[in-house]
Amino acid sequence: MKCANCKKPATEEYKPFCGQRCKDVDLHRWFSEGYVVESEEIPLDEDEG
Ligand SMILES: [Zn+2]
Repeated sequence: MKCANCKKPATEEYKPFCGQRCKDVDLHRWFSEGYVVESEEIPLDEDEG
């Protein structure tokens, strides 16, 4: 398995990354790039009868 960030051999401890550094980098990238999640609130219908 290769590091998902720098393509070096991943380590068992940090897979799929080669180390803590790449793990952090990838995590930060993920947060900064892909945080466009729209969530619609579904109104609760409490009408029973
Ligand atoms: Zn790496």
